[in-house]
Amino acid sequence: MNKHLFICVAAVCVLCGCNRHNQSFQYNVDKFYDLEILRYDVPEFDQLTILQKQLVYCLSEAALWGRDILFDQNGRYNLRIRRACEDLYLNYPYEKGTEDFAAFECYLKRVWFSNGIHHHYSEDKFLPEFTQEWFVAACEKAGVTYDEAILPVMFDPAVMPKRMSQQDGVDLIAESAGNYYGEGVTQAEAEAWYAAHKDNSSEPMWIGLNSQLVKNEDGKIEERVYKVGGLYGEALEHVVYWLKEAKKYAENEQQQIVLDKLIAFNETGDLKLFNEYCIAWVKDLDSRVDFVNGFTETYSDPLGITGTWESMVNFKDLAATKRTQLISDNAQWFEDNSPTDKKYKKEEVKGVTAKVITAAILAGDCYPATPIGINLPNANWIRKEYGSKSVTIDNLMHAYNEAAKGNGFNEEFMIDDEIRGIYEQYGAMCGDLHTDLHECVGHGSGKLMPGVTKDALKEHASTIEEARADLFGLYYLADPKLVELGLLPNKDAYKAGYYQQMMNGAMTQLVRIEPGKDIEEAHMRNRQLIANWVLAHVTEGQAEVEIIERDGKHYLRINDYDGLRRLYGELLAEIQRITSEGDYVAAKEMVETYAVKVNQELHEEIRARYAKLNLAPYKGFVNPRYIVERDCESGIITDVKLDFTEGYIEQHLRYSRDYSPLPSVN
Ligand code: ZN
Repeated sequence: MNKHLFICVAAVCVLCGCNRHNQSFQYNVDKFYDLEILRYDVPEFDQLTILQKQLVYCLSEAALWGRDILFDQNGRYNLRIRRACEDLYLNYPYEKGTEDFAAFECYLKRVWFSNGIHHHYSEDKFLPEFTQEWFVAACEKAGVTYDEAILPVMFDPAVMPKRMSQQDGVDLIAESAGNYYGEGVTQAEAEAWYAAHKDNSSEPMWIGLNSQLVKNEDGKIEERVYKVGGLYGEALEHVVYWLKEAKKYAENEQQQIVLDKLIAFNETGDLKLFNEYCIAWVKDLDSRVDFVNGFTETYSDPLGITGTWESMVNFKDLAATKRTQLISDNAQWFEDNSPTDKKYKKEEVKGVTAKVITAAILAGDCYPATPIGINLPNANWIRKEYGSKSVTIDNLMHAYNEAAKGNGFNEEFMIDDEIRGIYEQYGAMCGDLHTDLHECVGHGSGKLMPGVTKDALKEHASTIEEARADLFGLYYLADPKLVELGLLPNKDAYKAGYYQQMMNGAMTQLVRIEPGKDIEEAHMRNRQLIANWVLAHVTEGQAEVEIIERDGKHYLRINDYDGLRRLYGELLAEIQRITSEGDYVAAKEMVETYAVKVNQELHEEIRARYAKLNLAPYKGFVNPRYIVERDCESGIITDVKLDFTEGYIEQHLRYSRDYSPLPSVN
C-alpha cells in the first residue's frame, strides 16, 4: 500500500550478530495493547565531526517542532483530546493502581502512538476502555477543563469511526475523520476546486499538497495554506528557525541550497519552491547528514492530494557502505563464477553500491511507527528527470532484530540448540550480507537474449526477478570468497542464513497470511518458491533438507548444507534461463506450483504456535535525546551528546510540554 515508504516486511526474527552495537543497550522500552515500543541505537554518531553533530542537532529540533501538525491533520479534535488526557494524567487526583487508571494510561499511550484517536494501521477509531462518566468525574476532581465536544468524539463509536474511508460510493471526505478538509466540504466540491486550480502552464506540480480546503461564510471553497503566517504557522515558524540554524552548519553549498529552498517554501507555501527543494535535495549526494522535513506522503488524504507532515534526520552508515562497496567491486567475479549458463552471463557487469543510513531522529508520520527505508521524492517528473534517493535504515532494522531476542520465536520454531547457537551468532550478519548481495550484484547479474523484453514474464516477472536476486545471494553466501574478503568470519557462518531462508520460506512467513488465503506479495512468493522447490528436488534417499514432525510440531532440518547449496545453484541456473529466454510458460508453472498455494494444515499449526508467543504485531520507537553543550558567552554549541534513558511516557510528555506550539483548534 505504501509506495515510497516501505514498512518492514522481513521476518523480524533475525538476531543481531553485529559487534558494532553496545551489548548492554536496552532495546525494549514498553509494551501495551497491540504495540511494542523499542529504542534504536545511533552507532557512529561519536565519529561525526562537531559540525555534523551540530547539524544533526538543529535538524532534530526542526523535526520535533512539527509534532502537533500531524495530530491536527489526523483529526480536528486530536489536539484537544491529547491535551485533556495529558492534563488529567499529570494531575490525576486518585490512587493510580486501579483498572480504570490502567485503561486510561493505555488509551493515552495509544493516542500518542497513533498521533490521534484512530489506529495508525487499521485507521479505525479506538474506544477508551474506561467510561465517559469516569473521565468526566476525574477531570472535574482534578480541575482539568476541556471542550465538551471531545466527549462524543472519544466515546461514541458512531462518531468519526474511520480516519480515512476507502468505501465505494460514499463521500470520502464526509466519511473520513482526517482534517484535510474543513467541515461541510464535500468530495465533489473539493475535486472541482482542485481541477479548477491545477496549474498546467508550468512544470507539473501538486495543487493542495500543503493546504486544507474549507468553506467560507459565503459557502465558497477556500484554501488555507500550511505556511509561516498561515495554517500551522505557529509550528512552522519554529521549524524554519531551526532550519536556519542548521544552515550555519551545512556540510557544503548544495546542502545550503536545499535548506534555503525548504525555508523559503515553508515561509511562502509556494509549491514551485517545493519542487526546487526536491530537485536540490536529489542532487545533494555528498553530504553525510541528510534529512526529510515536511508535507510528504499523501496516503492519509482520502483524495490523495495533501501531504502528512513528517521528518527524519539521518547520516550515512560508513561501515555498511564499505561492505556494499567491497561486494560491488567484485561484481565481475560473482558474475563469472555463478552456476548459470555462460550464454546468459554479462561480459561486463557493474555492481551497485547500496546506500545505508543511520536514523538520528524520527518525527511526524515517521514516529513512533516508522518506515525502514526512504525512497523520495514522490513527484514522478522529478524522479524521471533528476532521479531519486533510495536508502535503507540499518539501525532501525538492528533494533527490531535485537528487540526480538528472547521473545521465544527461535525457541519455538528452530529445530535444536545447535542451529539456534549459530543463528544467534551469525543470523543478523548473514541477513545483512544476503541483502547486500541481492541488491548490489543479484539484480544486476545476467542478461536477456536478443529480442527478449523485460516484461516477457508478465504477472510473474517480479516474483521470478526477486527469486533470481535472492538465489544469487544465497548461492554466494556459502562461498569461501566471502570469508576471503573478510565479509564472513568463518566457513560455517553462512549456515545461519541458509536455515533462516528455508525455515522462513517454507514455514514461518505463513504467520502473516490470513487463514484460507493464498500468498500474493512477490517477495513472500519468491521465498516460498525457493524453499518449496528445494524441498521437492532433494536427492532420493539423501534428503539434503526436510521438514520433520516431532511431538505434533513440524520443524525444518538441514542434513547436508553443501547439498542445499548445490540445489540453490540448480534453481538459480533454471530461473536465470527462464529470465534470459523470457520463458513465460515455465515461469507461470514454477510460480503456480511452488509459490502461491499454502499448505493449510501446516499454516494452521504455525499460526497457532505463533499466537501463543503473544508478540505485539506493531512496533514503534522512542527517540534518543540530544543534549547540547554550549559556550556560556557566545551560546555556540560546543558538543552534542546522546542520551538513551528516556521512557515512552516521559518522552511524549516532554514533547507535549516543550514542542507544542499549535492552538488546540486550528
Ligand atoms: Zn529485490
